[in-house]
Amino acid sequence: MITIDGPTGSGKSTVGRLLAKRLRYHYLDTGAMYRAVGLAIWRAGTELQNKEEVARRCTSLDIKFIHKGDSTKICIGDEDVTKAIREPLMDLMASNVSALDIVRKAMIRLQRKIGSQGSLVAEGRDMGTVVFPEANHKFYLDASLEVRVDRRFQERQEKGESISRKKVKEDLIERDYQDMNRRLSPLKPAKDAEIIDTTQLNPHQVVERIMRKMKQRGRRTGIPKRSISSTK
Ligand code: C5P
Repeated sequence: MITIDGPTGSGKSTVGRLLAKRLRYHYLDTGAMYRAVGLAIWRAGTELQNKEEVARRCTSLDIKFIHKGDSTKICIGDEDVTKAIREPLMDLMASNVSALDIVRKAMIRLQRKIGSQGSLVAEGRDMGTVVFPEANHKFYLDASLEVRVDRRFQERQEKGESISRKKVKEDLIERDYQDMNRRLSPLKPAKDAEIIDTTQLNPHQVVERIMRKMKQRGRRTGIPKRSISSTK
């Protein structure tokens, strides 16, 4: 089990995908799960204050990841919501629902179930601190605010959205503040996580650094080398 946590735009998703591919591990994008819950709650028009209704919807939500070749779809029941959860509105919606106790409990249960099914690179905000505290390797990625904003802004532009950099920066600051300061599972590095500043690094360089750290750690802790050796 390898966990990768960090704030928005720190490079977790790209790095997590590359790393999982390289090691032939499964990749778990837990942000996508909170986004799917956010989408379902938003579509139903449920008020977040209506705890009972949120609980009912969340526990009956059938969230599935479907892997095909290199791509992974996320579905609610039979509906492919991979695109819908990436709508800008879902950024904050996911952050809002993720602060609710009932939602976190349901998602953590599902994440641990997926984690029990095989080798995993799990990416999110609380993977190393709460969901998989026993993980062999924990990483926390971070980068300067301006670089994280640039990455997000570029992503948005590539999708053809017309949004100002200023608005991207405001949204990112708001979401990170919310994620870092909530009562439940706030975003922070696990005590035993390796912190990597990705400001000056591209995703491949981050993967190399992670591979190196895991090998060094494997030598120190005696974790068998084959469990972290590249399959490439
Ligand atoms: O990573 P992504 O931007 O897709 O995550 C969307 C939101 O889901 C985050 O802002 C955060 O509020 C929430 N989240 C969380 N715990 C995780 C993963 C994501 O609270 N493990």
